[in-house]
Amino acid sequence: MFLIFRPSLLLKPRRFCRYATVTAQTSAQQRSLNRTKYQEMVKKKPPIPESVLVFPNRSANAPAIVDTHTHIASTYAAYRTKYPEGRFSTVHELFRGVTEGHRVEAVVDVWCEAPVRAIWRELADSAVSEDDRAQKWGGTEYYFAMGVHPHEARHYNDDVEKNILEAMAHPRCVGWGEIGLDYHYDLSPRDVQQDVFSRQLRHAVKLGKPLTVHTREADEDTERILKAEVPSDHKVRPPSTFRDPIFDALFLECNQIHIHCFTDTPEFAQRLLDHFPNLYIGITGVITYSSNLNTSATIKNMIQPPSEPQSEATSDRPPTATGESLPSTSIPRGRLRILLETDAPYMVPGNIYDAPSLSTLKNKRLPICHTAMIPWTAEFVASVLGDGRTAEDVLLEARENARAMYGI
Ligand SMILES: [Zn+2]
Ligand SMILES: [Zn+2]
Repeated sequence: MFLIFRPSLLLKPRRFCRYATVTAQTSAQQRSLNRTKYQEMVKKKPPIPESVLVFPNRSANAPAIVDTHTHIASTYAAYRTKYPEGRFSTVHELFRGVTEGHRVEAVVDVWCEAPVRAIWRELADSAVSEDDRAQKWGGTEYYFAMGVHPHEARHYNDDVEKNILEAMAHPRCVGWGEIGLDYHYDLSPRDVQQDVFSRQLRHAVKLGKPLTVHTREADEDTERILKAEVPSDHKVRPPSTFRDPIFDALFLECNQIHIHCFTDTPEFAQRLLDHFPNLYIGITGVITYSSNLNTSATIKNMIQPPSEPQSEATSDRPPTATGESLPSTSIPRGRLRILLETDAPYMVPGNIYDAPSLSTLKNKRLPICHTAMIPWTAEFVASVLGDGRTAEDVLLEARENARAMYGI
């Protein structure tokens, strides 16, 4: 996903209207006073206390979290917009503040703007040494992917491409993306989106890079372009590009496709899964939204394709919230080809409001999403599957898929 933050919206003039109508003849001085009052009010009363963004620690035995798609710099920007005087004053502080004690093993941070944001290097360099990862990222393995989002396709040019190619050589880079097509917003002309998508795919395939794909309401064109540009076993890099044996071994295992934040039709997902054996479907908190039934249907198809008759062993089994009462080992199951992701700062899982630590929120909503929310998405996936998998099973399976997908 990709949206643009405008901190200025916080003080949009129309917000002052209710003060301006207190008297029929409000003077300029009065308006100025009212504006000050409003600014003070915003400062003193953020929508909800920022402390609720930090969740109680998870158990030391809980399965590790891997967030395969997040926008860390944008999450920090969103946080500062909501909490201008918040306690976390750097990207690293916020990251550690919300993830420490949550067994977050790895994250893939995604850069998708054009022109490329120079700050990418600062964050990537801060994760090169083990010491830095321990100090700055709280021990989490920080990786990143880079590409130009379809919204930004109209700004793609040779300079942007040069910057991306440079980033691809960074030791923490694990993928090219997010790239693709978005016909929902159409922020770049469709022919430009297609050209830029193809062009980036060609580079990524040549380099043997894992692909992070964003597609929304563009099923036919995304499928056509992927099939045209990416070998179906997108796995082995051409020998001519081989340089370093360790580097190459990593790529031999992880040249895969991640269709991130999937919300399109289950049929589309199935066609992609059938064609590309190394393709995974990215699941965000949007799976919990009542407006989106596609993602749930997609994962159900994955474990039991509609063409197969339902076995008695599964058809009589009522769906459960966590599946804990059913022994997972005795259940016949299909492979769950999913990756868990937040796409933060958006897509807070809807089921998170059942958490005891959020009971004081009442009808308010968390202003940002972050990596420690992944277990709620896993919980929801388990409840949708209803095949005996627990949230822990889902986390473990997705963790292994993340390793296969990005080599992380
Ligand atoms: Zn996206
Ligand atoms: Zn994204």
